[in-house]
Amino acid sequence: MAIVQPLETAPGVRRRLELRSPSTLEPIGEIEVQNADDVRAALERARKAQPAWAALPVEERARTLERALKLVIERQDEIIATVIEETGKAQGEALSMEIFASCDVLSYYAKRAPKFLRPEKRRLHGMLRFLKKLQVVYRPLGVVGVITPWNGPFILSLNPSAQALVAGNAVLLKPSEITPRSGALAGEILRDAGLPDGVLQVLTGDGETGAALCEAGVDKICFTGSVSTGRKVATACAKQLIPCTLELGGNDPMIVCADADLESAAAGALAGAYMNTGQYCCGTERVYVVDEVADAFTDAVVARAAELRQGASGEFDVGAIFWDRQLEVIDRHMADAVERGATVRVGGRRNPELAGLYYEPTVLTEVDHDMLIMKEETFGPILPIMRVRDEEEALRLANDTRYGLSATVWSKDPYRANELAKRIEAGGVCINDMTMTYGCPEAPFGGLKDSGVGQVNGEHGLKSYCHAMPIITDRFGGRQARGFYPYNAKKDAGLRRVIRMVFDSPLRRFLG
Ligand code: NAD
Repeated sequence: MAIVQPLETAPGVRRRLELRSPSTLEPIGEIEVQNADDVRAALERARKAQPAWAALPVEERARTLERALKLVIERQDEIIATVIEETGKAQGEALSMEIFASCDVLSYYAKRAPKFLRPEKRRLHGMLRFLKKLQVVYRPLGVVGVITPWNGPFILSLNPSAQALVAGNAVLLKPSEITPRSGALAGEILRDAGLPDGVLQVLTGDGETGAALCEAGVDKICFTGSVSTGRKVATACAKQLIPCTLELGGNDPMIVCADADLESAAAGALAGAYMNTGQYCCGTERVYVVDEVADAFTDAVVARAAELRQGASGEFDVGAIFWDRQLEVIDRHMADAVERGATVRVGGRRNPELAGLYYEPTVLTEVDHDMLIMKEETFGPILPIMRVRDEEEALRLANDTRYGLSATVWSKDPYRANELAKRIEAGGVCINDMTMTYGCPEAPFGGLKDSGVGQVNGEHGLKSYCHAMPIITDRFGGRQARGFYPYNAKKDAGLRRVIRMVFDSPLRRFLG
């Protein structure tokens, strides 16, 4: 049963999609697919509204985020209910991933955006500093298109939109067709917090709407989603010569060293692999454990995994797969692994007790790098464990992938863990923890290899919604320009003397 199904519509009329709950498979609503004309009209409204918004002091724009924070707290039950209806995730995950994380980012940028975006006086180097002054001002780009996926449907819509807005941009937000109401709610809350009309508009639809947004003439695209769509977005942005950030998929490794605290590592493996039913971009998708602790670690994982409660209502640990398309990927990767000799230690099948899209939390052993489960992003509650000779082999296998989003290392020796972490080809690494880089705005977040382009969040991410514009002022009111022409031998000789004095003498220490 497809979670999103096209409805029959008359020719020339906008397409409509019917949505179903992944928990019950019952219909939960319909959306209209907004087309290129709708996107162009929204862009026109955004262009009209943006200059007045950008002209407000950043402190005032930051106060909108403060008010949005209050609204998220007040309306948390409504947000949680909407997210759960569209995704079937566990209540604790809706609370931590969507509400806590949203409060944290709103509070973070509301408090710090005025400082991060303040014009900066920068001291010039060498002789220039005696002649010129430099100021860098952060100008908003204009209108930013934000395209988001379904796995963190509220936070992943709210966070980039809030950053682009506080930087003075207008935003056109296109949430996933799987979770349109969670995305729309993020937009509604930001608007209710006091955004002027047209500054933030939510577009509903699927790939047609997303593609139209990329081609509409916006000034930047912030995309979060799959590698294959990311390539299309990058191509569209390249054609228009606009910047984009691409936060894409991953196949994140976990390395368990011989000296790891095995109980913590086992608990971390479970959280990394099963949180959000494994549909977490930085989820643990592969575990490499060194031979001497492999049995003890695997036993601890198996015992804990067998105790997890899966459900559709009440208290449970592992929820639904949010989309039947993802369930098909999980089935395919699992069938391939089993056919190639993997052993299922826990789970390994769709949950027969539950009517919706449920796959049991699964532990696999005897896996290898010929299997899809180790090579590709599975995005499901599957934890494959591979026994390796030593940490060097773990490192080689961890890097044997086209992805590079994040990774984890588990060891009691901080120095060794750090040295190992630095050699992993990933956007970020967590030591003795599941990956939580997205939750630390001070940590630049973004993938290597196929996992993305650019980094988001924090001061650097916020500034990427702006053009850092240098304003250079001559200290002598432009008098230097008077001596520019004519070129002659006397001036050339003078410049040669300066080159010698500044770059080829002990003065270089001060002037170079
Ligand atoms: P997806 O690429 O199918 O869709 C993402 C968004 O792009 C949706 O809104 C979709 O409607 C839109 N879209 C589809 N075709 C488009 C086109 N041609 N042009 C523009 N937009 C288009 O991804 P998904 O299945 O929704 O999300 C799951 C993927 O997202 C996983 O691979 C996951 O790892 C990744 N993800 C990455 C991060 C990160 O920060 N790196 C975070 C969350 C999810």
